[in-house]
Amino acid sequence: MPLLRVRNLRTHFHTRMGVMKAVDGVDLEVGEGKTLGIVGESGSGKSVIALSIMGLIESPGHVVEDSRILFDGRDLARLPEPEMQAIRGNAISMIFQEPMTSLNPVYTAGNQIIEAIRLHRKIGAKEARECAIELLRLVGIPSPEQRFSAYPHQLSGGMRQRVMIAMALACEPRLLIADEPTTALDVTIQAQILELLRELRQRLGMSMILITHDLGVVAEICDDVAVMYAGRVVERGPVSAIFRNPQHPYTEALLRSIPLLGMTQAMPLNVIPGKVPSPLHWPRGCRFAARCNYAVERCRCEEPALAESGEGWAACWLREQRRRSRSEGALHA
Ligand code: SF4
Ligand code: MG
Repeated sequence: MPLLRVRNLRTHFHTRMGVMKAVDGVDLEVGEGKTLGIVGESGSGKSVIALSIMGLIESPGHVVEDSRILFDGRDLARLPEPEMQAIRGNAISMIFQEPMTSLNPVYTAGNQIIEAIRLHRKIGAKEARECAIELLRLVGIPSPEQRFSAYPHQLSGGMRQRVMIAMALACEPRLLIADEPTTALDVTIQAQILELLRELRQRLGMSMILITHDLGVVAEICDDVAVMYAGRVVERGPVSAIFRNPQHPYTEALLRSIPLLGMTQAMPLNVIPGKVPSPLHWPRGCRFAARCNYAVERCRCEEPALAESGEGWAACWLREQRRRSRSEGALHA
C-alpha cells in the first residue's frame, strides 16, 4: 500500500478570465521510502500538486470535490483545516526553490530550526538547541555550533537550502516534498544538495516527492517518475523503465532533448517546438496533439486516459501500436 495515493486530483482557480484548470485529473502514488519525481515544463501544474497535497491552496483556488489525496489511510482533500495543520509540518513537510524567501531574515538559522522542532515536539530550550545543532550536522553544515548563530544573509545559497532542509526534517516527516530545491543554485551546489537529499532519504527512511523540470535530476535520485503535461500526468512508472523505453511521445521527446543522461546541469524542457496550451483553455482531445509527431485524427477529438503500458502507465491512443512497432523494429534490427 503506497504512503500517498492521489486520485483524480483537480485544482482549479476561478479568475476573471475564466476557470484556470491548473491541475486537471492527476493520478499518482508514492511508495513507502521511495522518491517520486514529478517532471514537466513550467505551467504544467507541478507546484500546484504539491500545494494541494499540503492543503495550501488559497482562494480563488480550490481542490475540486471528487479529488482524493489519500495519505496513510486518510483523505487529505477532505480534512478540516485544524487536522490538516497537524499533518502539515509534521507527517508531511515541504522545501521550496528559493530558501532566502522562506527563511526569516531577522532570526538566526539555529533559532528557526528550534522553532520548527518545538512546533512538533514539546521539549526544553536546551534540548531543542542540541537537536537543532544535530540537524545542522545531519544536513552537512560544517561547524554547526557556529553556524547556529548565523543569520540567513550570512550564509551562501547552498547553506541556506541546507538550513531549509534541516527545518523540514525537524518534524521527522514521513513525506518530504521538495519543489525545485536546486533550481536557484549553481551546478556544483545542486549536485551536493541532491546527494544530501538522497542520503537523508536512505538514512531516515522517509518518502519523497521531488518536483523538477530537469530529467537529469530525476535520473539521479528518483525511483519513480510522473511526467506532467498540461495539468495531467501523461506517463508514470519506474524511472529505469521509462528512461529505457518511454511509452508516451511527450516523454520520448523530453528524453531526446537530453544530451547525456547523468548530467547534473539544468536541462530546460523547452526544446520541443510549440508551447504548453493555456490552463484557461485546454484543447479538446489529447492536450499534446498540437506538438505530437504521431498525432492522428482521433487524438484531436478524444482525450486518452492513463492506462497500463509496459511497466507503467501512459495516456496515449497509440501506445499499443507504437509498442508493437517498436518490438518489431527490435526484431528486425
Ligand atoms: Fe500524440 Fe495522439 Fe498519443 Fe496524444 S494521443 S500523445 S497526440 S499520439
Ligand atoms: Mg513550480
